Amino acid sequence: MREGDMQSGGGMGFDFVQDYRPNWETDDVAIFRNAARKFLEAEFKPHIERWSKQGFIDKSAWRAAGQAGFLCPSIPEEYGGGGGSIAHHFAWLEEVERITLGAAFGDGVHSGICAHYLLEFGTEPQKRSWLPKLASGEVVCAIGMTEPGTGSDLQSVKTRAVANGDGFQINGQKTFITNGQNADLIILVAKTDPEARAKGISLMLVDMNLPGVSRGRNLEKIGLHAADTSELFFEDVLVTSEAVLGGKTGQGFYQLMNQLPQERLLIAVGAVASMETGLDLTIDYVKARRAFGQAIFDFQNTKHKLAEAVTEARVARVFVDDCVERLLAGTLDSKIASMAKWWATQKQNEVLDLCVQLHGGYGYMSEYPIARMWTDARVQKIYGGTNEIMKELIARSL
Ligand SMILES: Cc1cc2nc3c(=O)[nH]c(=O)nc-3n(C[C@H](O)[C@H](O)[C@H](O)COP(=O)(O)OP(=O)(O)OC[C@H]3O[C@@H](n4cnc5c(N)ncnc54)[C@H](O)[C@@H]3O)c2cc1C
Repeated sequence: MREGDMQSGGGMGFDFVQDYRPNWETDDVAIFRNAARKFLEAEFKPHIERWSKQGFIDKSAWRAAGQAGFLCPSIPEEYGGGGGSIAHHFAWLEEVERITLGAAFGDGVHSGICAHYLLEFGTEPQKRSWLPKLASGEVVCAIGMTEPGTGSDLQSVKTRAVANGDGFQINGQKTFITNGQNADLIILVAKTDPEARAKGISLMLVDMNLPGVSRGRNLEKIGLHAADTSELFFEDVLVTSEAVLGGKTGQGFYQLMNQLPQERLLIAVGAVASMETGLDLTIDYVKARRAFGQAIFDFQNTKHKLAEAVTEARVARVFVDDCVERLLAGTLDSKIASMAKWWATQKQNEVLDLCVQLHGGYGYMSEYPIARMWTDARVQKIYGGTNEIMKELIARSL
């Protein structure tokens, strides 16, 4: 940490990165982070195991986070948000990783993605009617791109929004949707012109309480057990023309592409914080656990492996922090964001695998947070655009 930062209450707080404070962490962000940490320790951490067993996070927890000012911190105050920058949201996400809940709390989708679609592209009435509710936690938001038949190839979605009088009639099916059980609003990717590829796509704001909308199973996953990830069905759902994000059809693909760098960086930020948290837990564990008359930490293999891992975590942090600064400056492009997403999540998986190994058999027991973190991490290489797609995007610029 920089001199004086402890006094101002700033800094990451990860034990092995005590001397580091990201440049994007202004004093205001540091104060926000500290408040977030206290809130999460008191209000979220005690419930993680219960949420993991029930398969979703209590709706009341969303509202508590909203009322305490932690949802939508990067949305202007005039729309009910915190009036900060995306750095505030990233600090919050890092703290969610720190209590080992991570992406199981779908607020990256809600505050980091959905709220920004509304802010960037919504008409004034759309912003005014939805954003304050997202910020208070009254409304939980999801984004519906993936369908049973298509994920990576987004332009091939089959969900249709057909013009019908003053509005549209929607039919289709989505799957793997984060916040699927809790969501009150979904930003739905639908074809308004099935003949056109990219230009035929629109984003529709669909109230989940409308007739014809139904929720399928809360899907059973190998990790992220506290996350409600679901199938959703749309059968003859009638919406008014007010439901088209931005008020004009055919803009959906452009809107999606525009927001992707931020979405990918959000995953990378979580990956770095997850690595750091996992390493903190592991360093403590190997110092306490003994074998052959000495601490596990004292074996040279343990020390060297951890030395490598903390180095990789630090390299990842410096790179990802540079990306955050670029995002704040408006200069983060798709290529660099793709690099951050694939590389940070790859390293996250490698580092957490080592952490499990150094925990021995306990690392495989669900009651140990490191086991949960390891299974939670796997999907980071899959969602938000798979890591193979990230490499495709990078390679296009070569
Ligand atoms: C826990 C979880 C949460 C999710 N949350 C959401 C959500 O909130 N909203 C949402 O819309 N979606 C969500 N998803 C879906 C996720 O974004 C998709 O699973 C992902 O984009 C991959 O799509 P797919 O599963 O159809 O795989 P496919 O596209 O079928 O890919 C299968 C394999 O083929 C590879 N592949 C595909 N195309 C290429 C190519 N051109 N070159 C090389 N390799 C290729 C892929 O990399 C992958 O390895 C979530 C998924 C999970 C598991």
